[in-house]
Amino acid sequence: MSLSVTDPATAEGKLSLDHDAIIIGAGMSGLYQLIRLRELGLRARVFEAGTGVGGTWYWNRYPGARFDSESYSYGYSFDKELLQEWNWSEHFAPQPETLRYLNHVADRYDLRRDIQFRSRVAAAHYDEPTRNWTVTLEDGSRHTSRFLITAIGVLSAPTLPRVEGLDSFQGQFFHTARWPREPVDFTGKRVAVIGTGATGVQVIQEVAKTAGSLTVFQRTPNWCAPLHNRPITEEEQKQIKASYPEIFRRCQETFSCFLHTPDPRGTFEVTPEEREAFYEKLYASPGFGIWVGNFRDMLTDPAANKEISDFVARKIRQRVKDPKVAEMLIPKNHGFGTRRVPLETRYYEVYNQPNVTLVDSKATPIERITPTGIKTSDAEYEFDIIIYATGFDALTGAFDRIDIRGKGGLTLKEAWAGGARTLAGMLVKDFPNMFMLLGPHTALGNIPRSIEYNVEWVTALLRHMQERHLTFAEAKPEAVAAWTEHVMKCAEGLLTFEVDSWMTGVNSNVEGKQTRVVARYAGSAPAYRAWCDEVAARGYQELVLT
Ligand SMILES: Cc1cc2nc3c(=O)[nH]c(=O)nc-3n(C[C@H](O)[C@H](O)[C@H](O)COP(=O)(O)OP(=O)(O)OC[C@H]3O[C@@H](n4cnc5c(N)ncnc54)[C@H](O)[C@@H]3O)c2cc1C
Repeated sequence: MSLSVTDPATAEGKLSLDHDAIIIGAGMSGLYQLIRLRELGLRARVFEAGTGVGGTWYWNRYPGARFDSESYSYGYSFDKELLQEWNWSEHFAPQPETLRYLNHVADRYDLRRDIQFRSRVAAAHYDEPTRNWTVTLEDGSRHTSRFLITAIGVLSAPTLPRVEGLDSFQGQFFHTARWPREPVDFTGKRVAVIGTGATGVQVIQEVAKTAGSLTVFQRTPNWCAPLHNRPITEEEQKQIKASYPEIFRRCQETFSCFLHTPDPRGTFEVTPEEREAFYEKLYASPGFGIWVGNFRDMLTDPAANKEISDFVARKIRQRVKDPKVAEMLIPKNHGFGTRRVPLETRYYEVYNQPNVTLVDSKATPIERITPTGIKTSDAEYEFDIIIYATGFDALTGAFDRIDIRGKGGLTLKEAWAGGARTLAGMLVKDFPNMFMLLGPHTALGNIPRSIEYNVEWVTALLRHMQERHLTFAEAKPEAVAAWTEHVMKCAEGLLTFEVDSWMTGVNSNVEGKQTRVVARYAGSAPAYRAWCDEVAARGYQELVLT
């Protein structure tokens, strides 16, 4: 059965649309949404800029790319058979494995027949009289649909540094999120890495193994913590498969859908010895526990934050032999956990290697890229390879790159000037029939858990509409205002929002993103789901449905 039953907006009461729904993006979000739309009987089409499925795991092929989520908490949870047939090889799987997994999912559900690759969406315009969307691809082709679903990711629009001469470099250069398929050989080469965020940390520790020389350009050091990855043994594999229901139940209950969740104790409710022992235990444990499973007041009480920051600083000083380099690696402008914590494997030890140099590019900024290398304010360096680990225009970047227009020709950029305003990160006022799977102000955390929830929520809404022959859904202004106010409230008192980062919408490489905003929802995932569940249970009163 198709949703295109009767359409009051067309003369014959029938649709002449190309598709019932267009999904932009074939990453984890787009693939799962396609599966669910098919179940509703909708004619869905996915447009994907890349040549294959996988999104993040398709684009980020740089050496060292891997999960920070436990592998078995990251995969899709909706299909018991899929869970049993897939074997994760490591507790934190490397990128090639996750890409294989998502290709396996695409094959298993025969998804590719509804996906058009090499198809970047340039524009999406809503047409009020017909209640339809017209999507224009970069090749100029146009496609119409009743519904538009964005599955374009939160970290999918790469950014480069704003310096002169990027194209002048005569050697090889790569952005980590646009890494070539062929392996890059660093053996004996003079390599530069610009950027020390989560990706920079992963790539640096790999490249340092073979590069002749590696020069790291660091503007802001980040607080990193050990990943403690290892292979999954056969015995563990059995245990994991037997305990999937508990694993996903746990992810449903925790603050941000990870297996870890804040310790109910306050930092100063325990003795200094107990505190130190707890920190030691977290530092020696795999994954994000030290960040999202720490004392409950770590990100609200500056004194509590200073305790853990001092602890991690001591670890860095122990691990890095040269005290000057150690000090350069210890963040001074933000406390532990107030920005995304990169997880590492012998990252700090890299700086003890004779072939590795750390450059402080805040003190001596990069002035330009030259044909032979990089010129800073005080030196000129020659390189064979430059790696830009300069990250993404996060959260809204992929939206900004599409000319999205809603009612009255209003652009999404205009609607979000001064900060995004959404209904639960999924709907926007004045943009009817558009649903965002990972829009700004949705819950994030261990992201696939949020993706699955949002896909289910959108699917339930579409089913509701289908059953009632409704063809129009728009967020009510008062509901958008209420959700946005709630998001602002959740951010109050959090140290995270006193720091420049992608979570506060700041990216010095992107024009217009220099002012802090509350760019992400900081409440708990269970609270987010409860809010959205209630909207659905009360018959979507927060939406205009006709
Ligand atoms: C290096 C890295 C490591 C990460 N590790 C973790 C982790 O350990 N745990 C975790 O929870 N999350 C992690 N993430 C976040 C990750 O992005 C999400 O977990 C998840 O993969 C998002 O899936 P998605 O489908 O929503 O978006 P994406 O995977 O980003 O896919 C979006 C897709 O949309 C396409 N697209 C965008 N714009 C257009 C357009 N205009 N036209 C056509 N196609 C378009 C893109 O090409 C892309 O394929 C990581 C991210 C990165 C970059």
